[in-house]
Amino acid sequence: MRTIERIYIDGAFVKPHGEMLDLFDPARGEVFAQVRLADDEDARQAIQAAKRALPLYARTGKAERLELLRNLHDAVLSRAADLEEATILEYGAPVARARWTARYAAESFLHAAKTLEDYSFTCSTGDSEVVMEPVGVAGLITPWNANAGFICSKLAYALAAGCTAVIKPSEMSASQTEIVTEALHSAGAAAGVFNIVTGRGEVVGAELATSPDIAKISFTGSTAVGKAIMKAAADTVKRVTLELGGKSPSLILEDANFEAAVPMAITAGFQNSGQACLAGTRILVPEARLTDVLPLAKAAMAAAKVGDLRDPATAIGPMVSTRQYDRVQRYIRLGIEAGATLVAGGEGHPDGLGGYFVKPTLFADVTNGMSIAREEIFGPVLCILTYRDEDEAVAIANDTDYGLASYVFSSDPIHARAIAARLQTGRVMINGAPHDPLAPFGGYKQSGLGREYGAFGLEAFLEAKAVLGVG
Ligand code: NAD
Repeated sequence: MRTIERIYIDGAFVKPHGEMLDLFDPARGEVFAQVRLADDEDARQAIQAAKRALPLYARTGKAERLELLRNLHDAVLSRAADLEEATILEYGAPVARARWTARYAAESFLHAAKTLEDYSFTCSTGDSEVVMEPVGVAGLITPWNANAGFICSKLAYALAAGCTAVIKPSEMSASQTEIVTEALHSAGAAAGVFNIVTGRGEVVGAELATSPDIAKISFTGSTAVGKAIMKAAADTVKRVTLELGGKSPSLILEDANFEAAVPMAITAGFQNSGQACLAGTRILVPEARLTDVLPLAKAAMAAAKVGDLRDPATAIGPMVSTRQYDRVQRYIRLGIEAGATLVAGGEGHPDGLGGYFVKPTLFADVTNGMSIAREEIFGPVLCILTYRDEDEAVAIANDTDYGLASYVFSSDPIHARAIAARLQTGRVMINGAPHDPLAPFGGYKQSGLGREYGAFGLEAFLEAKAVLGVG
């Protein structure tokens, strides 16, 4: 069996000191490799390497950073095919998704480069000059559902800002991390500028969150862990960016083209096999139009292809782990017990599929108090809720602890924007699920703190220094 026993510290691949962990192929539910994890001592060495590299790297100019970002892009792009394969095997992503994520990971460096090119690190305000300086050593922590993408996008903006970094990828994504690490290493950054330490969250992640030598944590993952990190980071008053969970509403307005909107809303819920923070999992429809919606929703569910990960038409792969499979099953049971109506799907595996595949599931007759409407399921399980008027639609949409994203469907752009203005979410997407890599990304309420991407994402790694009396 393949074993991965390398982490990356101070510009070199070294053997970590922790225990072995099995890596599973979610399509079959079988172990395909093992990874040796880093321990807290490995984490401390990585932090010290990043600390040593900081003074020199923080003084680099735009031109040098831009060159590095472009080299990193080229390096990751050159391994896109390998990354795609690893994402299919280790994460269970359908090939179309795996291809997109591999390229997205590489392109992150170009997006950060474009942001850096356009950004001015000095400005004047009042009688003073303001200089934006790198915050220091950044700890970057990623989840399994978008591991390579977040390694690259967090690192890209940290480096653009002049920070050095210690990256703690998801321990469940070690095979993707190995490929990304090899690629990043080949780009020729100075030793210690970035370090990659795969280990457990409560070991390596906790070391980053408490170390006095880490100035900033950029975390993407669950709301529960985000809160723990925020508490752990408080003792050293670290800057924290938290990208957490979601329970995003899709509002289909009365004037929407229902034939187009209903399938798009279902697709928005099934992004990344339903394992997406942005997934539109609460579909809000006018009560009087439910009878129009249900047949369209059933047809869209039937069209969502589950299974063969090598088929470019497949939209939904397996859940990442047995734990995630069990979690989804539990929520399907909870929905049934609460009295919601199964429109499609249900408990168990889809016909002919094993591993961690679940049945894409749609519930109707859902009320916003049910746990399937309140809690992040993180699987392909969607709810249809009805509203009597738009005030009620907005109230239901905002009645959640989360606030990452929302989707509005309408044939009238002015109407859609008026509703968008009333939604408490970091992103509102109109008539689809477009991605804009330079628009700020992050959540209201318990979906997070701060923003990533573009100038907002760059400033998350900067401190403002005001110089007064400059004359
Ligand atoms: P998770 O919170 O379990 O783990 C995320 C990362 O945190 C992993 O690397 C893990 O090892 C680490 N970690 C765990 N405990 C830690 C601790 N005590 N200290 C420091 N680090 C620790 O999340 P997950 O299950 O890997 O990912 C799924 C979650 O991520 C979902 O809730 C999803 O909504 C969220 N997510 C959010 C976004 C976003 O941008 N808002 C994007 C993707 C995923």
